[in-house]
Amino acid sequence: MFVRVLCAAAAVACLLSSCAGRPQTEGGTLATPFAPAKSLSSPKKVASADDPVALTPVAWGRLGNPGGLAGRTLSVSSLSDIKLNHKEVVLTFDDGPMPKKTDTILSILNEYGVKATFLMVGQMAKAHPEIAQRVVAAGHSIGSHTYRHADLQNLSFDAAVAEIEKGRDAVTSVTHEDAGFFRFPYLADTRKLRQWVGQNGMVVLDVQVDSKDYFGVSPAAVATRTMNELRAHGKGIILLHDIHARTASMLPALLTQLGAEGYKVVRLRHSNASMMTAWLN
Ligand SMILES: [Zn+2]
Repeated sequence: MFVRVLCAAAAVACLLSSCAGRPQTEGGTLATPFAPAKSLSSPKKVASADDPVALTPVAWGRLGNPGGLAGRTLSVSSLSDIKLNHKEVVLTFDDGPMPKKTDTILSILNEYGVKATFLMVGQMAKAHPEIAQRVVAAGHSIGSHTYRHADLQNLSFDAAVAEIEKGRDAVTSVTHEDAGFFRFPYLADTRKLRQWVGQNGMVVLDVQVDSKDYFGVSPAAVATRTMNELRAHGKGIILLHDIHARTASMLPALLTQLGAEGYKVVRLRHSNASMMTAWLN
């Protein structure tokens, strides 16, 4: 049984390695504030997903008070409640929980005093229940991300709903917590499914800033892309994944940079207030 669970987890991990279904490489340059350009004469270094991102390059500025990165808590019972102000971000981590990586991310978030939302794949939560429980114990919000990371646009409505429900039930049964948020795998939604999710006590989390941490680029490139995209928007929900080593590697740099540029990390808390009101009426 244990072996079967491990195999299932490995299969899901393989599926998830191409989470967004996009190419695994991306053009671009590492000549960024996070990774200063090398002179043309220096030997070309091959970027590795495990390259550590140095934490104190001059270009970042300094984060004097890591606790100052934490913003307000937003109580959310429907999509319309998620209204962010300028320089406010929400951190979201999809596809886990994953051994080692999720725990590393939890300890970094704790160090910086910020809370995130983890959108868990049902099958992953069942394979690693103790990690899912640590996410909740650390005070983060949780949601589901279907049971097996299915592309719901390729399923019938009924099959898609069954996938969503099975995923939510798995996350809830493992964590004993309200998995009130939902994210569509591959961000592949439909109007009808969005409506169903909203009517069934969950809030769809959309994405304004895609870190694209699933591309096979260096951690520095991920942090740079994320900051560049965020600066263009000024605020937003950031999509990250707690199944990639490069995400954990670059997270301290990203959080340091967010603080240095005056951003605040908003904590989402799911509330069933609107449903309660509806029942009472
Ligand atoms: Zn995903």
